[in-house]
Amino acid sequence: MHHDQATAETTFSYLLSFLWWPLLYFGALIGAGFAFASNAPIMWFNAVYAALLGAIVLLERATPHRAEWLEHDGEMLNDIGHTLLTKGAAQLAVAATSIVPMAVATATRTDEHVSQLWPTHWPLIAQVVLALAIAEFGLYWSHRIAHENLFFWRFHALHHSVVRLWVVNTGRFHAVDSLIKMALSQAPLYLLDAPLQVFLWVGAVTAITGLLTHCNVETRTALFDPVFATPKLHRWHHSKTLKEGNSNYCENIMIWDHVFGTYLNPGKASPDRLGISGKVAPDFIGQIVQPFSRKGARQILGQRVESGDEDGKSANETASAPAVGRISEA
Ligand SMILES: [Zn+2]
Ligand SMILES: [Zn+2]
Repeated sequence: MHHDQATAETTFSYLLSFLWWPLLYFGALIGAGFAFASNAPIMWFNAVYAALLGAIVLLERATPHRAEWLEHDGEMLNDIGHTLLTKGAAQLAVAATSIVPMAVATATRTDEHVSQLWPTHWPLIAQVVLALAIAEFGLYWSHRIAHENLFFWRFHALHHSVVRLWVVNTGRFHAVDSLIKMALSQAPLYLLDAPLQVFLWVGAVTAITGLLTHCNVETRTALFDPVFATPKLHRWHHSKTLKEGNSNYCENIMIWDHVFGTYLNPGKASPDRLGISGKVAPDFIGQIVQPFSRKGARQILGQRVESGDEDGKSANETASAPAVGRISEA
């Protein structure tokens, strides 16, 4: 009797695991659609984002992908701190960078200004897909370089230093890492004169996808993996084994990983070990300043400096050689 009940429960949660990702992802996107059609788009989008966050927090407890990832690792406050700092820095950067284009626009723009480059006559959804593919190109290369070049890895390693994935480490990025990524992904859209609505949608999709890629909810996404950045693909990106971790760089849609041959989707649901071979400072301020000192950078890089990467013949081998020289010169 009890056995049957347990089996029925297991079958039920197995079936639900196919539902969670599309339900949360497309549900949040539909919510964003309503938000952007309302009179207070930003406020309502924040409400959608908060609802998604709340749903994930509950599901992580109810149906975790890995029960051991629910245990505290002492990094929660640091994760939240980096999220807030990165968001603040991003706001400042947007404010600073928009002054120049706005001044230029005011000086040169006539009333009948219409974008010559951006296909504003396309349906909005097609414009958003185009913008996502263009932004993804910048996201892909800034992310790939952050992994393959040890100079940039010292900033990105903070994101990878966690040994468990859950929704709270979504925003755990060094502010320098975030700014490089933002500049490279958004500049092409500015230059192509994409409309504000398109920027809002790219931001919304990135925010929603980010929460889901880091969630510790049991999800089965075989149908979606080839196209979307799913939790499964991102867990492999967080593997401690470099050959596995140096993959799946795309943030929203997997297009450039397929094009440049870095798409990884093994049969197993997630790697055994997450994290990095180096060491990241335990405290918040330490984590921010660590990449700027010679000693700090060496700690972060760990084995990657001495052996030219733990797996020897990886794609990083070529990148690590000049970086070693750079560190000892510094
Ligand atoms: Zn990464
Ligand atoms: Zn991540």
